Amino acid sequence: MEEDMASGDRLQIIVPCYNEEQVLQSTAATLASVIESCISAGLIAPSSAVLFVDDGSSDQTWRLIEDLHAADPQRFDGVRLSANRGHQAALWAGLSTADADLVVSIDADLQDDPQAIVRMIKEYDAGADVVFGLRSNRESDGWFKRSSATLFYRLLRLLGVNIVPQHADFRLMSRPAIDALLQYSESNLFLRALVPQLGFATAQVSYPRTSRAAGTTKYPIGKMLGLAIDGITSWSVAPLRAIGLLGLTVSAMAFLLGLWALWAALFTHATIPGWASIMLPLLFSQGLQFIFLGLIGEYIGKIFVETKRRPKFIIRARAGTNPRSAAARAERAEKVN
Ligand code: UDP
Ligand code: MG
Repeated sequence: MEEDMASGDRLQIIVPCYNEEQVLQSTAATLASVIESCISAGLIAPSSAVLFVDDGSSDQTWRLIEDLHAADPQRFDGVRLSANRGHQAALWAGLSTADADLVVSIDADLQDDPQAIVRMIKEYDAGADVVFGLRSNRESDGWFKRSSATLFYRLLRLLGVNIVPQHADFRLMSRPAIDALLQYSESNLFLRALVPQLGFATAQVSYPRTSRAAGTTKYPIGKMLGLAIDGITSWSVAPLRAIGLLGLTVSAMAFLLGLWALWAALFTHATIPGWASIMLPLLFSQGLQFIFLGLIGEYIGKIFVETKRRPKFIIRARAGTNPRSAAARAERAEKVN
């Protein structure tokens, strides 16, 4: 009953593009040739395609996408966002638009090896629903980018955020995994932490990361910081909890100081009149305030978790159905048309 699993499966490669006019054409050609060799190898359906997401570019990016689509409507497709929403939102737009059986997301500058896509599809064939692309080196990135990234990921893991080391947004996802991901309704996106927690069968493929083919980075320091802050604040309540711990420590210290002030006022002659009666309420109310802040932090943490409305569970399969069967594929194709 296990028929040839992937050869009929349609692949879409999602490429977020922000002012990428300099690399777009060569990227399109490279990705098309990867797709064609996978088709001839019998790995994917002949209708497989590249789906560009123009993230509100202000250069010729969208015109180039239109041209590519006009020249080969089967192979090149595109959507254009109304304004620049950022890399993660552009990826999300691509995943929501995609209707294929499996999807690979890759940056427009092809710093991530497109040849690794072939190995990803083989992992998919072997049963993986999510295949992470892992950078085996980052020498092509500058010193600052490398060390700030390492520090950031270490901090994230310290805060309990579960991410795959050396993985960014180059990954393959099967239709069940995409459908599961799309159930998440949060608007502060940090996909590289969200995808691993879906809980599907995963695999990894590593590749050396090269430098940008042309053009400059679309991730200036401001956007990088934004992503880092989103990564932490959309995932972890640890900073809020830290306030509570700090509060307990401060109030414990205030209590001891208060005892000391009382003792000094009553049993020594080293204090001036009125000192203890100012110190005691001061320390007391300081400690109380910190405890209250911590308490409020705990409730805000709960609100934070609740407002995300993350799915409590994801159904992987139903007895007697196989999402990769020809019948399921046909049913999906039906829905699209
Ligand atoms: N990108 C995007 N919107 C943005 C910034 C970047 O869609 O606001 C895309 C960009 O076109 C590229 C990918 O995100 O395909 C990664 O950007 P880049 O390669 O410049 O980042 P870096 O590799 O320098 O981290
Ligand atoms: Mg890049």
